[in-house]
Formats: sequence, C-alpha cells, structure tokens
Amino acid sequence: MAVVAENFIEQIINQELESGKVSSVQTRFPPEPNGYLHIGHAKSLCINFGIKEKYKGKCNLFFDDTNPSKEKTEFVDAIKKDIEWLGFKWDKQTFASDYFEDIYNFAIELIKMGKAFVCDLSAEEISKNRGTLTEKGKESPYRNRSIEENLKLFTEMREGKYADGEKCLRAKIDMASPNINMRDPVIYRILRQTHHRTGDKWCIYPMYDYAHPICDYMQGVTHSICTLEFEDHRPLYDWVGITLGFVNKPRQIEFARLNVTNLVMSKRYLKKLVEEGAVDGWDDPRMPTLAGIRNRGIPAEALKDFCGRIGVAKANSEVQISYLDAVTREYLNLHAERVMGVLKPLKVTITNYEGEEKLKFDVNPNLEGVQRDIDFSKEIYIDRDDFSLNPPPKYFRLKKDGYVRLKNAYIIKCDEVTLDEKGEVVELKCTYFPDSKSGSDTSGIKVKGVIQWVNAKTAVPIEVRKYEYLLKDEEYAGQDFSERMNYDSVHKFNGLVEPYVLENEDKSFQVLRTGYFKVLETKDGKVLSEIVALKDNFNK
Ligand code: ATP
Ligand code: MG
Repeated sequence: MAVVAENFIEQIINQELESGKVSSVQTRFPPEPNGYLHIGHAKSLCINFGIKEKYKGKCNLFFDDTNPSKEKTEFVDAIKKDIEWLGFKWDKQTFASDYFEDIYNFAIELIKMGKAFVCDLSAEEISKNRGTLTEKGKESPYRNRSIEENLKLFTEMREGKYADGEKCLRAKIDMASPNINMRDPVIYRILRQTHHRTGDKWCIYPMYDYAHPICDYMQGVTHSICTLEFEDHRPLYDWVGITLGFVNKPRQIEFARLNVTNLVMSKRYLKKLVEEGAVDGWDDPRMPTLAGIRNRGIPAEALKDFCGRIGVAKANSEVQISYLDAVTREYLNLHAERVMGVLKPLKVTITNYEGEEKLKFDVNPNLEGVQRDIDFSKEIYIDRDDFSLNPPPKYFRLKKDGYVRLKNAYIIKCDEVTLDEKGEVVELKCTYFPDSKSGSDTSGIKVKGVIQWVNAKTAVPIEVRKYEYLLKDEEYAGQDFSERMNYDSVHKFNGLVEPYVLENEDKSFQVLRTGYFKVLETKDGKVLSEIVALKDNFNK
C-alpha cells in the first residue's frame, strides 16, 4: 500500500492516545445486510481496518440488522466474502441483534430516568409535530406520562399487545432543539416482521440512531467512524451514551463519502439495474459492487491502493473514475503477464515459410529475461485493425507492399490482398525474411511498426468483451439517472488468443496492444473480459 500522510481521523486518534483519553483503539465496519458492498464501502473498510492495523487495535465486523424488512442472510454471506477478498480480518463478528436484549434493558433504564416515554401519536402526526429548521416542534400530549405507566406500556409493546404503529417509544429530549434529530426522536417501533436471525422473538425493534451507540459501547468501540450524513445525528449518539452513563463513551467521527464519476453507487439504482436486466446481476464486471470489481479482475491490492491514495476528507467530492483505472493499470503493468491475441482476426499466409518453430516471448518486461515459447508457422492471424487498404500518411502497420515486424518473430512484407465480393479484406499473402528474427536480426530492413499475432493452428477462439462505464460522462451529470445510463456498455468480439491464456485461467493478462483481460465464466460460457484498457482513451 502506498504511504499516505496522516488523515484527520488519525490525527484525532494520535491526540487522544497522547493525552491518555484512550489507551487502545477499536473500530468497527457496520454494514446493513440489505445488499452488496460497493466501492464506497471499500473506502470505509480501508479506513476502519487501516486504523486497526496502524494502531495494532481491533476492528469488528458489525452487522447493523435493526431493520428486519430488508435484511437477509444471503447478504451477510456476500458481505463477508467481499471483506475476505480485500484481505481484512475482523476480530469479532457481531450483529445489532446480538444486543437486542441489552438495547431493550437500556430503554427501560431511560424510562426509569424519565428520559423516554411511550407515545400514541401516529408516525404521520409525529413527523407533522416535529417542526422545521426555523420552527420549534410541538410536544407530544403523551410526553408527561408517569414512569410507571411508561414501563407498563413499553412492556406491553414488547409482549405484542399493540398493533404495528399503534405506539412507539420516544426519547424525551427537547422539542425546541435547533437539531431536529433531538426533538424527542423515536427509539423503538412496533413491527411484526420476521427477523433473519431472531425470527419472531421480537415485535418491537430499536431505531438505528438509538441502537448504534449502544452496540458500539457494548463492543468496546473507541472510534465510531461513519459518513458525513450522520454528522447531524452525532448529538443524539452522544446523548444516548451520556444519559446512560457510558464510561469511555465511543466517539463518532464523520468523513466524506466516496463518490466516483460514471459509477452508480446507490443500492437503489444498482438494484434497479439488476432487476431491469441492464447488467448480468450484482457481480456483473461493470458493476461498482465489490463482487463486480472482483469479477472484473481489478486486484484487491489495486483497489486498496486507490482508497489509500484518494485520502480521507471531511468535505464531499467526486473522484474521477479514470484514477481508479490508472491505479489498476499501474498494478497490472507490473504484475500481469503478456500474451498475444487478436480481437478481429485477419488471416495471413506466409508463402515462403515452411514447417513450424518455437519462438521466445517475453513474459513481462518487468521480469527481465523471463521468457516462454510461442508457436509460429506459415499461417497466422493478425488484427484486422493492423492492416489498411487505404493507409493515411505515416501508417506504420501493415499495408500492401509494406513491411511490419511480427512481435518476437520476423519482419513480413505484404504481397497480395484477397478481397471478398463486398470489397472486404479476407486474407493477406506475405513473405517473411528469415534473417530478421527478433533478437538476431541481420536483415538490415528498417520497420517502424510492431504488431501482435497468433498462430492459426494453435490459437483458441474466444469471445472478447470490452466495456464502457455504466453512466455516461459528466456532461450528463445532474440529469436523471435513466438519461445518464449507458445501455450500450458491452462490446463483443470473436477473438483468438494463444492457448496459454486458457491454460492459465486464474491469471490476469496484458493482451499486447489491446488491454488487460481475464478469463471470465459467464452464462454464455468462458469469455475474455476486459479489466482495464491499455491507455486512458476515455476523454477522446
Ligand atoms: P448505500 O446508501 O450505498 O446503500 P449505506 O450507507 O446504506 O450505503 P451501509 O451498509 O449502512 O450502507 O454502510 C456501511 C458503512 O459503509 C457505513 O459506515 C457507511 O457510512 C459506509 N459507506 C457507505 N457508502 C459509502 C461511500 N460511498 N463512501 C464511504 N463510505 C461509505
Ligand atoms: Mg445505511
């Protein structure tokens, strides 16, 4: 991981360690198991687990499952798989539902302190009485119920005596607070929903803002890191801890969400894409989910490097997707083996070559001297885009009567072009120069172009897929999501690759002059799927 300057969260922690306010550090990653993790979550994971690693502290995986209607065990499993892929190891796995009994008992304590009351207003009435930013809220007529009555009613809520929504428990704080979240917020609601872990044991569920500070405290969290939209909720987070007398109350710290251009991050939209069939599921390689990114072939190391390099900020901003591409490319350039393949095969017959031979091919210029054998013979394929019938000036690839070097092989000259009835080039006849072999070229022929090729007899046909971003460019920013959607974001080719690619399916490759690719199992069989283009040609 790249070395980055200390961010503002680390500065806070350093001060607290120095002053003795804390003696060790514990964070948690708190997903709600209601969907798949995305690249924004990777940022949060890197911050929380980064702190654990840096301060030799702890980080729990904490599932915030206080909202039974949307949560599923399927998502719990998917989330764990994604975190493991990133290489993070949590200390404990916990669920808000592990603490339901404690959360309930703390509510009883609040009632006994006169700090919570059972309210009979409907959700609508509560929201109507909440007031606005400029106008105070109106106190509930049930606000001054006696402690005994509140205890009785709340116990009955738990026992199932009331219908969903008939009553709720509210914290008694301040209806005149300038912060609307402090205006007697609802902390428990009645909800008859089967919970993915506790089943039908509970018919009342705590609200996130109330449950979260308790769960953090019960786990020993010292720093509860969340995104900026929770800044206005911090007074309530603190109120819960202070009122309940938590010793060493955890501290909530907010940072800016990661937003990336040309990526849809919101679960709601991602879900829509999946349901509309605009993508092949949550793990489609174009999806910004971690499952999609993994399928795409972006290495976990590159993603973590990206999260580290963009830094942790207190102000919202948008990161260019080309930056993620650049980081991925940088990683793959160092690590990916080179192979040859052609997206649009064009047959070339080398008329003066007989037999076959093995040539040496550089596995990766960063691994100097590491070579493997490639097959060469009379019949090869080059990419159609490397031949031009009407070449512009300074065209250095192949043209009629022109010369080009075949990568790690020989110089060839194009003698004859075969066209079909539509005037399309279907085959080239060339001659090669035996003394022009790469590494021992004595031919004296000067060529400027080097192109990749594959041997006809051994090359393997495979569908090649290249991608565009799911969202169109910034010029569409601000427009409705459906108008920004790029519905034509996959391009398919009937390509040919060296057999080496399919013999090493678990590797990522740089297909020379073409891009970075990996073999991907899809519902249409195995395809060669683009990880990232070779160059940033997005702004063209
Ligand atoms: P979404 O709104 O995309 O569904 P969420 O906030 O509802 O995301 P959670 O499962 O509640 O998802 O999030 C778990 C953690 O990840 C939270 O701490 C949340 O703040 C953080 N997180 C979510 N999205 C981002 C993002 N884009 N950038 C940074 N952190 C994020
Ligand atoms: Mg959330």
